[in-house]
Amino acid sequence: MDFKVATLLKLSSGNKKLETVSASFQVEWFRRSCYIDGTVLLTKTDVGIWVSAHLKANNIAECGSCLEEYKEVISLEIEEEYIPLFNLLTGERNEIEEIYKDNFHILEDNVLDLSGAVSQYLSLQSPINKKCVEDCRGLCIDCGVNLNIEECGCNKNRRNTKFATLLESFKVSE
Ligand SMILES: [Zn+2]
Ligand SMILES: [Zn+2]
Repeated sequence: MDFKVATLLKLSSGNKKLETVSASFQVEWFRRSCYIDGTVLLTKTDVGIWVSAHLKANNIAECGSCLEEYKEVISLEIEEEYIPLFNLLTGERNEIEEIYKDNFHILEDNVLDLSGAVSQYLSLQSPINKKCVEDCRGLCIDCGVNLNIEECGCNKNRRNTKFATLLESFKVSE
């Protein structure tokens, strides 16, 4: 997810450039690649380039309750200021001020690579409890049928077991 920003870096503060993104994206901790699309507004600042990205990450996830695959869409609203590591004219390494040490950087080829930020925002926005639908009924703990698709008879018997009592107590504490 690279954007050439040499031209923008030469302009004065406030100049903008709108880019679009439409790319498949591989994230290490995602087991699959996801598809990212949206817009990226690049604005020249005094020290670098401000990135305002409105992206959607489309990916195939596995429901934590019923284990079925479903389409997951994660919205990413990225706001980050990228600081150039190298002086555009001299090619020398810039002295990065302490307050910009944690920012993302533009490397010597004057390419702004958004993938680090996308990966970071994805990990923050990605739900821990993945659910295919809000009220997914999951799998029956006794016979294993997908309760979204079919009913089973286990539910009636379960009320008498110790395990059911335990489940009930969880419900109360939730
Ligand atoms: Zn589910
Ligand atoms: Zn069952």
